[in-house]
Amino acid sequence: MRQKIIAGNWKMNNSNTESLSLLQELLNFNFPKDIRIIISPPYTQLGLVNEKLEKSNIEVASQNMHFADNGAYTGEISSSMIKSLGVFISILGHSERRTYFNETDESLKEKVDKAINENIEIIFCVGEKLSDRNSGNHFEHIKIQLEKTVFLQPAESWKKIIIAYEPIWAIGTGETASPKQVQEMHLFIRNIISENYSKTLADSISIIYGGSVKPSNANDIFSQSDVDGGLIGGASLKSKDFAAIVNAS
Ligand code: PEP
Repeated sequence: MRQKIIAGNWKMNNSNTESLSLLQELLNFNFPKDIRIIISPPYTQLGLVNEKLEKSNIEVASQNMHFADNGAYTGEISSSMIKSLGVFISILGHSERRTYFNETDESLKEKVDKAINENIEIIFCVGEKLSDRNSGNHFEHIKIQLEKTVFLQPAESWKKIIIAYEPIWAIGTGETASPKQVQEMHLFIRNIISENYSKTLADSISIIYGGSVKPSNANDIFSQSDVDGGLIGGASLKSKDFAAIVNAS
């Protein structure tokens, strides 16, 4: 059975104090045990947040990681640094990283290789621009993003890969893809995983959706048959909204 996952991407938000009180609020909710819950705070809080969640069933992910072991990469963070804090999951290829920090499919391939070699699980984000969707090129765009990165991995690596479909036009915009649009893209992704590997493998992979998910739309999106949860940005900063989204999955 595929794992249901709700991951909260806090992006560049929250002081330490704000994060601690958000965590405290989250810990007061009784989340269903069968849903995997992951929180991704800024780098500076990875250790702190991970420590506070040690006895809970909420896991922690970094928002990014570099492909090199160490060296002259000012402002970057390596896989061994993340692991030294007890964190073994990383989001890779978020559209904000691709757009504002020039991440390309080529540099993401290096990051995917490094993460998998270091036994770090990845939430690998793919998504198209509105112009791709309007020109009918959205399926091809997602296929290429996958072919240049995670599809270069052998089948056994997929135990460590979660795919997040995040249409760029729906991230932080309040604009959500319709449940039908989400389902057809998730099914497309599952089918091409099946073509590249096997149906058994494709049926075991969690494909989550991100893009303005809120308590009011979560249920309609998560009830689609190929949607295995969500990557939540803005709404993950409010404990009640995040909890409502977890409960809708
Ligand atoms: C995200 O940051 O991955 C995201 C989906 O953001 P939002 O939910 O705010 O659109």
